[in-house]
Amino acid sequence: MSSHIMPTYGRLPVTFSHGKGAWLWDEAGKRYLDALSGIAVCNLGHAHPAVHKAICKQSEALIHTSNLYGIATQEQLAKQLCQKSGMENVFFSNSGAEANEAAIKIARVYGHQQGIEKPLIIVMERSFHGRTMATLSATGNPKIQQGFTPLVEGFIHIPFNDTSALKKAITKNKECIAVLVEPIQGEGGVHIPSPNYLNNIRNLCNQHQLLMMVDEIQTGIGRTGRFLSYQHNDILPDVCTLAKGLGNGVPIGACLARGKAATLLTAGMHGSTFGGNPLACSAALAVLQTLDTENLASKAQEKGEKITSLLTKKLQGNTKVSHIRHQGLMIGLDLTFPCSELVTQALQKSLLINVTNEKTIRLLPPLVIDDEQIELLVEILSSLIQEYTQ
Ligand SMILES: *Cc1c(COP(=O)(O)O)cnc(C)c1O
Repeated sequence: MSSHIMPTYGRLPVTFSHGKGAWLWDEAGKRYLDALSGIAVCNLGHAHPAVHKAICKQSEALIHTSNLYGIATQEQLAKQLCQKSGMENVFFSNSGAEANEAAIKIARVYGHQQGIEKPLIIVMERSFHGRTMATLSATGNPKIQQGFTPLVEGFIHIPFNDTSALKKAITKNKECIAVLVEPIQGEGGVHIPSPNYLNNIRNLCNQHQLLMMVDEIQTGIGRTGRFLSYQHNDILPDVCTLAKGLGNGVPIGACLARGKAATLLTAGMHGSTFGGNPLACSAALAVLQTLDTENLASKAQEKGEKITSLLTKKLQGNTKVSHIRHQGLMIGLDLTFPCSELVTQALQKSLLINVTNEKTIRLLPPLVIDDEQIELLVEILSSLIQEYTQ
């Protein structure tokens, strides 16, 4: 079959026509259990009535005006995001990579204000921050950078979850002005750092006057059991980026800032035609309200516990399963050997999962997944793994 789509994705042989909660149906009417949520996007599940209603209503009134004018829904959304995060203001974009671009620009302006000509941002090995030129340069994965040199300068990569490596990098490089970090590395293989890692970064950033910038694009919006993952640590970063789950599938990203970081980008320094348009903001407002009324963040914590403890029980004694871990509904299972074939095998059994970093099965189910669906997920996945590792 010839396709007119540029071949940038390895696609699975399935096309979905509609969904409801954690269920998806393909064009032939076959039903699938979605344990990936379009990679942490549809946190409220598919076809959520609150989001549906909000975008229908908004599209009757206005879809887009311009950031040349005031946008009431954008003001409202920014206010709510700041109340929920402890941040002070927001720049809206259309994607995660663009939210990180804004963060990177903030950091560079911060450096230049101190007379640093070539400011450096510390980033982590195995990190993922997006596919634009600056964000792929920040990303700690050579595969993603392959073929695209020259990379954007100004990033130094250090090991994740290694406070002494961070200390060393800061003291060795006087041009360091910021640290950009995921609270849990998602694409890199669901790496959960030690509980005080973010606190250590906060302290070092305070000591050396660096901006602490947290990429919550995958971990945010209730996924890990709090609205934002850094809230487990009782800290505030200077910059925080969001996207994925923010619009439950309607494209929207956000770069939140606080303190000195909130005043660095001024009129004319940054912009986006679509960013924060009325339609996208109405979807995000519905998402925030639903998260609260359905108490989805704290349920994510319980549901994550349940899925991992059931999987641990079922897979007990299987020496090929080396590690099962989670924070909320961000779940990783490591096998001792590569297992990307499991994705297709799961699809045949009507289950959508993902494998990242070759050996890590990643689960990001919708936060609305129910008990019956949890049991089905555990049943299908554990028997697949048992068969695969025989
Ligand atoms: C997905 C992701 C991004 C990139 O978001 P896009 O919307 O695809 O540009 C950046 N950072 C993290 C941590 C992500 O998971």
